[in-house]
Amino acid sequence: MQIRVFGAAGEVTGSCYLVQTDRARLLLDFGLHQGGADADKRNRNLPPIAVQDLDAVVLTHAHLDHSGRTPLLAREGYRGPIYATPATIDLCEILLKDAAHLQQLDAERSNRRHAGARHAEPLYTGDDVERLLPRFEPAEYDHPVEVAPGITCRWVDAGHILGSASVEMICMDGGATRTIVFSGDIGPRGAPLLKDPVTFDRADLVFLESTYGDRDHRSMDDSLDEFVSIIESAQTPEGKVIIPAFAVGRTQQLLYFIGELRRQGRLTEPRVYMDSPMAITTTDLYCRHKELFDKESRAILEQRDSCLHIPGLRIARTPQESMAINRLGDGVIVLSASGMCTGGRILHHLKNNLWKEQAHLLIVGFQAQGTLGRRLVDGQKNVSIMGEPIRVKAHVHTLGGFSAHAGQTELLEWLTPIAPSAPRVMLTHGENEPRKTLSDLIERELRLTPELPEFGDTIEL
Ligand SMILES: [Zn+2]
Repeated sequence: MQIRVFGAAGEVTGSCYLVQTDRARLLLDFGLHQGGADADKRNRNLPPIAVQDLDAVVLTHAHLDHSGRTPLLAREGYRGPIYATPATIDLCEILLKDAAHLQQLDAERSNRRHAGARHAEPLYTGDDVERLLPRFEPAEYDHPVEVAPGITCRWVDAGHILGSASVEMICMDGGATRTIVFSGDIGPRGAPLLKDPVTFDRADLVFLESTYGDRDHRSMDDSLDEFVSIIESAQTPEGKVIIPAFAVGRTQQLLYFIGELRRQGRLTEPRVYMDSPMAITTTDLYCRHKELFDKESRAILEQRDSCLHIPGLRIARTPQESMAINRLGDGVIVLSASGMCTGGRILHHLKNNLWKEQAHLLIVGFQAQGTLGRRLVDGQKNVSIMGEPIRVKAHVHTLGGFSAHAGQTELLEWLTPIAPSAPRVMLTHGENEPRKTLSDLIERELRLTPELPEFGDTIEL
C-alpha cells in the first residue's frame, strides 16, 4: 500500500493524504492552502485521482486547512461518504459556507479591480457546499467504522477544537494488516473546555503534526497574568485590545477565560465585543455540544446559565455595528476574525488602530508564513492594509499559552506511548525549522528516526 502527501509538508496548511491499498483509495483531510501569493493556484491543483475512484474521505477536524477543499470534490461529482465526528460535521457546514461566500467576494473584488483582464472564478460556490453536505457521515469517538473495503478508522479526541480527532486507520492490504495513525492537529493539555488529547499504543506508521515542534508555550497561568496586565494597560481613552481570534476555538476559549477572570474578580466589568458573525454561530454550536467539554469546564458553565455568553459581552452582527466599535476606547476588547488577519472584519480594526500608540494587538494563534498576522508578529513596522500603508505603533503581544496546538514537549509525550512499537514517523504540518528541531528531539529521546516528507512524496508500506 502507499500513502501520498499532498499538503502540509514543510508548511502548516493544505493537509491532504491519499491512501491507496490493493482494494481501496481514500483521502484523509483535504484542506485549503492559506497564506502566500500562490495559495489560490495551489488550491486549484487537485491530487492525481479521479473522484469516481475514491471510496471515502476521512476528516480529522473542521478547520479549513483540513476540510476547506472538500467542496471541490462535490463539484467534480464525488458521491461517496465523508466521515467525521458529529461536531466536525456541524462546524464544517458553518465554515465551508463562509469559505464559499468569501471566495465569491474575493473573485468579485478581483474582477472589479482588473476589469477586462482575466476573469477570476471563485474556487467553489455555495452550491458546491450544498451538494457536499449530504455526503457527511457521522463517526463517534472510539467507535471504529469500516470507511472503505478493508480500511477501518477510529477517531479519538485531539483536544484541538470542538470535534477534533486523531485517527487510527487499520488497513488490510495484500494479506497484511497495517496500522497508520494520523495525529491531526493536537491540542495542549489542560486547556479549558476541551478534553485532553488521547494517544495510541502502537502503529506501523505515524503522521505527527509539528506546528510548534521547536518550542514550548508559556504556562496557562503566566499567560493569564499577562492577559490581565495587557487589558489593564489598555484602560486609556484611546486604549483598545484587538484580538484576531479564530472564529472556531480561540474565540470560545477567550470568552471562557474572560468569564472566569471576571468571576475571580481579576477583571472588573470587561467590555467585550464579539465581532465575527461566524464566531457568534460557532459559540452557539459549542454550547450545544457541552457533552464534549471536560468535566471542570462543564461544572463551571453549568453554574452560569448563559454558557459562553458572559456578562459584558456585546455582539456586533451587522457591518454597521462592527464599524461603530471604531469609536470606542477605554480598554474595550475586540474579538474579531480572521485569525491570521488575512480577511474579514479584523482588517478594519487593524487599519483603524495599528497606528495608535495606545492600541494593543494580541496574537493568540499560529500565524502562517505570508499572512499579515505573521508580518505583525515578526515586528514589521510598515504594513499595508486594504491597499493603505500603515505605520505600526500599537503594542503587539503574542500569547502562545492560549494556542490551540500542543507545544514541543506535549508532541513528544503524545508520541511516547507509540514509540515501543517502532513505527515509521513522518513529521508534517510544521514549517521546516520546527519539524527539524522536533525530529532531532525524537531521535534523541525515543530512538526513532523521523522522516520529513515533501509535497507529492510517496510512502510505501
Ligand atoms: Zn486545526
